Amino acid sequence: MLAPRHGCRSGPRASPPYSRTVDDPQPYQGRPSSGPRVAPCGARARLQNAHSRVPNKLPAMHCVVTGGAGFIGSNLVDGLLARGDTVAVIDNLSSGKRENLAPALTAGAQLHEVDVTDASAVADVFAARAPEVVFHLAAQIDVRYSVDQPAGDATTNVLGTIAVLQAALAAGTRRLVNTSTGGGLYGDADLLPTPEDHVIAPLAPYGQSKFAAEGYCALYTRLHGLSTISLRYGNVYGPRQDVHGEAGVVAIFCGHLLQGRAPTVFGDGRQTRDWVDVSDVVAANLTAAEHQLTGAVNIGHGQETSVLDLLAALNAVADGHALPDPSFAPERPGEVRRSCLDVTRARRELGWEPRTNLREGLTRILDGLR
Ligand code: NAD
Repeated sequence: MLAPRHGCRSGPRASPPYSRTVDDPQPYQGRPSSGPRVAPCGARARLQNAHSRVPNKLPAMHCVVTGGAGFIGSNLVDGLLARGDTVAVIDNLSSGKRENLAPALTAGAQLHEVDVTDASAVADVFAARAPEVVFHLAAQIDVRYSVDQPAGDATTNVLGTIAVLQAALAAGTRRLVNTSTGGGLYGDADLLPTPEDHVIAPLAPYGQSKFAAEGYCALYTRLHGLSTISLRYGNVYGPRQDVHGEAGVVAIFCGHLLQGRAPTVFGDGRQTRDWVDVSDVVAANLTAAEHQLTGAVNIGHGQETSVLDLLAALNAVADGHALPDPSFAPERPGEVRRSCLDVTRARRELGWEPRTNLREGLTRILDGLR
């Protein structure tokens, strides 16, 4: 049996914190959006304190978060629960971790250990949860894997997205917020900061598969009227970050800093990225759910920072620690030289603004690790 959908429970949990299959015997009680918001208490209230900047305009809603056990997804799940939303997570735990969801599961989230490429299992979860809003983050995110195994990358990122779109359509979902990548799509852009209408020229299959997924979202909007938006993130960093993602270098450098080990810089360190704090990305997702804007929207900080500048910023907030001088290794194939996103569209059409600068964000990560 799945946990009740609303309000705070007390006493022992009646069910395990996740189920492999969906077997919710409870009749659907109606959507909470028409009623009053349930006041958060206990674990939800603690999540609310941790996510004090999440937008709060939308009434509470039923959500599905694919990839919700991952770095960004689990931060988003916490933000949704803090608003009083009901959250079901779909994740195959290939790179995500159940530990990332520990506070969320305590606060009532449900984890369905399902692969997004398993269309019928995804459809079953959607049929049972009837999500009003879907946040699709599940993806194969390893750029080097995508170069070695382009078909495997496309299976998850393209076919998985189609399965989620189909399930959302069948479940009557109101809004689907898709996750894409700015850094992976524009390649070596000739215009920085790069706007959404810049030519798309990925340097790796990962960027190409994410672009194809965006295309399917736009198609479902045109063909079926399903409201979709694709958020093209810069390099996201923050708590729970894994070392393998697009901004994994932040997690790696923070670990090295605390252990007093010299970091390795690939290339000359002058390659640039647009680092954006995960709290800003969570806020962007919630804002995107509120709006009806469709198409692609960049979500970054709009500032170009080199890897060497990142190291300097880390040393500046290291509080007594200092990173030993880096060693340098050959540049890796498939990686762009410079990346910085123009976030004018997000500002103008979503009213979203990045708020956390690199210094604050790095301080927060280090505080959490100490
Ligand atoms: P992550 O690896 O922590 O999260 C991805 C999640 O998807 C994991 O929990 C993983 O287990 C799950 N997953 C992978 N394949 C799956 C499958 N077949 N079925 C079900 N679940 C599956 O990575 P992240 O950095 O949190 O990335 C989240 C999203 O953001 C991805 O779509 C990624 O492409 C996108 N993105 C991330 C960054 C960044 O800087 N981290 C930048 C641009 C875009």
